[in-house]
Amino acid sequence: MSDFNVLIIGSGPAGLFTALWLERLGIDRIAIFDRNQYSAGGLLNDGKLNFDYRIGIDLDELQIDKNEAQLLMQEVKKVFITFPLCQQVTFVENTEKIDAWRDVAKEHNVEFIAPEQWHYGTDNGKKFVDHLRSSLAKTTFFLGTEVLSVKKERDRFCLVCTKDREEQIYSGKIVLASPGRSGAYWFRDVAREIGINNNFGPIDVGIRVELNRKYYDTITDVVYDPKFIFYTRCHRDKVRTFCTNPGGRVRIENYDSFKLMNGDSLLDRKTENTNFALINTVSLTQPFSDTTEFGRMIARQFFLLGGGKPIVQRIGDFREGKRSSQSTFNSKTRHFDRCKATYNAVPGDITLGLPARIVDNLWESLKTLDKIVPGILHPSTLLYAPEIKFFDTHFPTSRDLETNIPGIFVAGDGTGKSRGIVGAAVSGMIAAEGIVKKHFK
Ligand SMILES: Cc1cc2nc3c(=O)[nH]c(=O)nc-3n(C[C@H](O)[C@H](O)[C@H](O)COP(=O)(O)OP(=O)(O)OC[C@H]3O[C@@H](n4cnc5c(N)ncnc54)[C@H](O)[C@@H]3O)c2cc1C
Repeated sequence: MSDFNVLIIGSGPAGLFTALWLERLGIDRIAIFDRNQYSAGGLLNDGKLNFDYRIGIDLDELQIDKNEAQLLMQEVKKVFITFPLCQQVTFVENTEKIDAWRDVAKEHNVEFIAPEQWHYGTDNGKKFVDHLRSSLAKTTFFLGTEVLSVKKERDRFCLVCTKDREEQIYSGKIVLASPGRSGAYWFRDVAREIGINNNFGPIDVGIRVELNRKYYDTITDVVYDPKFIFYTRCHRDKVRTFCTNPGGRVRIENYDSFKLMNGDSLLDRKTENTNFALINTVSLTQPFSDTTEFGRMIARQFFLLGGGKPIVQRIGDFREGKRSSQSTFNSKTRHFDRCKATYNAVPGDITLGLPARIVDNLWESLKTLDKIVPGILHPSTLLYAPEIKFFDTHFPTSRDLETNIPGIFVAGDGTGKSRGIVGAAVSGMIAAEGIVKKHFK
């Protein structure tokens, strides 16, 4: 059995930045476990980086103020921009143009956020991860190694893992869990087994919109990934745009019993389309507050309706209350040929799988967005479903991100501490500082 100072579950930005910061603070014998063969987590996806305290982190959840958040983000930025292919794509100094967009949005009671943004593209993801890993000298990677359970034995923790179907056990003084959204459900069960407190926060449920990029270039030429936040009149709910990919591709996220929509773009090869997520924040109280199960139920319903694939509907069909079908999907007479789908989903009816309240909210927001950026409601525009963000399970922690079980820390999207690459990295740095302060001084 190998023994380490810190055992890190998950090699996404949260796990990797925890290791990086631990090393900088003088800690050695760090182990990172990932069930994938390549260490990276979501760092391989797109690499759109938002350096703004209003995006991707929750100040209350992390118990920091906006100045601390900006300082931590600056540290994350220093790491990313040492990678030569990471390029700045939104310049906040471009105030005149950004203010003009903010004013138009305000006229329609929509909040508009334009963060400083950088991008390296999915095509450079592996190179970035190699670049980051090359600076980790005191960390051992256990890849293709799935953590099955976490156990406490006297003053150590043990991870029970499998690699090539063989069981292996690793021990350590501290555990940092950063399993990402794909591991959130698993870690929730582990937490229950070993008594880590957790509860449910809101979940984001919605669609991925894909359109001919010429209708959206007017805004994305100024702000690469514009954030519009709507508070709907129909239900007084919050809907927001998220993860815009100019010239990008619609992508899929694979889970155990369903598939979710997402999007990315390459740095070097662009498509004719732009895509973005439009998501509705949903909170649940009595008698059912389990937002994770609510999201999984919607996702499984789409999986069933689409015969194992996500569903896509043209706005032209949606407006007429009709399902999309293969025979008219690229119809020239209906102008559907203006937007060629970049993902092969099943033409159908997205309203069959989403609750009516969510459909109302999304449609009202799309109509409002069309007033701000005219053209997005062209009949050819594609609506893919479901897009769901599973960062809803929260683990109450100290300011150091330590759970109620001393020695177990959490970070990243899967534990509700971030929503995106930069936020995940920030939470990893906070946890690293907490680990050192509490257990190695
Ligand atoms: C297609 C796509 C595009 C995206 N584009 C962007 C973008 O442009 N900008 C942005 O900010 N965010 C983007 N995201 C989201 C981003 O990837 C996540 O916010 C981020 O990666 C979260 O980091 P994390 O470290 O918390 O988790 P992850 O990066 O998900 O890493 C978690 C890791 O834990 C591993 N793991 C889970 N359970 C276990 C287990 N039991 N045993 C061993 N290993 C386990 C997983 O294999 C995974 O590698 C995108 C996501 C997708 C899917």
